[in-house]
Amino acid sequence: MLAASGDLWPELIAFESDSRVLSTPSAAHLYIDAVQRIKRPMSDTQRPSSRLPGFFKRSLAERAAIVSQWAGLETDEQTVLLGISGLTPNQAEHMIENVIGTYTLPLGIAVNFLINGRDYLIPMVVEEASVVAGASYAARLVRAGGGFVTSSDDPVMIGQIQVLDVDDVYVAAGQVMAIKDRLLAEANSRDPVIVELGGGARDVEVRPLMETPAGPMLIVHLLYDVRDAMGANTVNTACEHLAPIIEEVTGGRVNLRILSNLADRRLATAECTIPPDVLATDELSGADVVRGIVEAYAFAAADPYRAATHNKGVMNGMDAVCIATGNDWRALEAGAHAYAARSGRYTSMSEWWADGEGNLCGRLKLPVAVGMVGGATRVHPTARVALKILGVSSARELAEVMVAVGLAQNLAAIRALATTGIQAGHMRLHARQLAIAAGASGELLQRVVEAMIAEGAIRLDRAQELVKELRG
Ligand code: NAD
Repeated sequence: MLAASGDLWPELIAFESDSRVLSTPSAAHLYIDAVQRIKRPMSDTQRPSSRLPGFFKRSLAERAAIVSQWAGLETDEQTVLLGISGLTPNQAEHMIENVIGTYTLPLGIAVNFLINGRDYLIPMVVEEASVVAGASYAARLVRAGGGFVTSSDDPVMIGQIQVLDVDDVYVAAGQVMAIKDRLLAEANSRDPVIVELGGGARDVEVRPLMETPAGPMLIVHLLYDVRDAMGANTVNTACEHLAPIIEEVTGGRVNLRILSNLADRRLATAECTIPPDVLATDELSGADVVRGIVEAYAFAAADPYRAATHNKGVMNGMDAVCIATGNDWRALEAGAHAYAARSGRYTSMSEWWADGEGNLCGRLKLPVAVGMVGGATRVHPTARVALKILGVSSARELAEVMVAVGLAQNLAAIRALATTGIQAGHMRLHARQLAIAAGASGELLQRVVEAMIAEGAIRLDRAQELVKELRG
């Protein structure tokens, strides 16, 4: 287990107490050499605890070194973390069109995650303050109750084929189902790699839509196990291949052939149970906090206005992991919100309740269409490093980690809202950002922040005045 004490890292402390030193390549290489000298990482079976007290108090370089050792990162992977290497404009040019550069965001690590008895450090890419801290804090609470328990479906995506201009939609549905085996075999012929890996077409379903603005139509669903891919390209290719066959047997006309982002055959679930005493604050008993959180959930369950914000908190965590791992966060968002509206009324993605012993119990079940191959996951150098830090071995495991992070993020938000409110923490961070914008750094930065908080005046003009006064 990694010790939290600073004397484990003497080589590092020797030349970096200020992360700015890493902005020069030579200093960064000194740092990397030091990390290499520190004893080599342990194998996965000896994975150390993700409970890293005081991680947030360390310098950026120390944190990077701890994570590098924890995850066994190679030198080239460490240079990616430090921003010395990473996505180059040349690589970016092959990802999208009309590239003129690259755009960077902070990469943070949420600590304390214990999922199915395994420790995880969670890479999160997000521009919003408090997200990484919130996830880490909530994971510590959940850890006290034994950690997250997760499960997931096989990675089955849905491809949709829209069939129009048939004489009778129900007859056409029968014609499609009569050649189901042929359709499955044809779909499998498009991606022998996935079939070889145990995936491939699983089933065909038909859904007549009788009342649409364009009249009756038949929707054919292809259910396809995409293994460790997100699966959009794979499923779209299969659907395009099946379209002429479906036109031939139905005599109809196929319009759209595209996957559905409502990936409700690919659900991942995370659950947790937290003893009430762990939740107690200076002002509130554990039972009071449990009640407040359950009431907060009830509000989101009953009110779409609250549910939207409650669910945004869930997605704060899930999106950050999605982006860090090079996955498609729009696909994740679309699936999660559509699933939250599956009853016909938009509601809370998560559920919170108290069990018979007064423990706080939580559950998050969502479609999670993410991959470890394909898309940007293997192209983006930082995504590759993030996947290595996570140490997940399948897309299912990644999906389970993501719902655990979503549940943690949701807990952090509603716990704060049901106790002290979120502004206290936010305002400190906001004050810090304003002080930096006003030109403060080091000790002056701290003094400006404290002064603004004490005065209750957290504004840029006041930060600028304070910088002048305190410098004077
Ligand atoms: P992909 O086509 O890049 O990669 C998947 C391929 O990798 C498979 O076809 C397979 O041949 C190969 N492979 C190798 N090892 C594998 C393994 N262990 N498991 C599975 N496949 C393996 O990627 P994809 O996941 O099909 O598509 C994802 C991309 O599609 C994302 O970039 C997404 O943004 C984009 N996309 C999304 C939508 C949408 O969400 N509606 C639509 C179109 C495209």
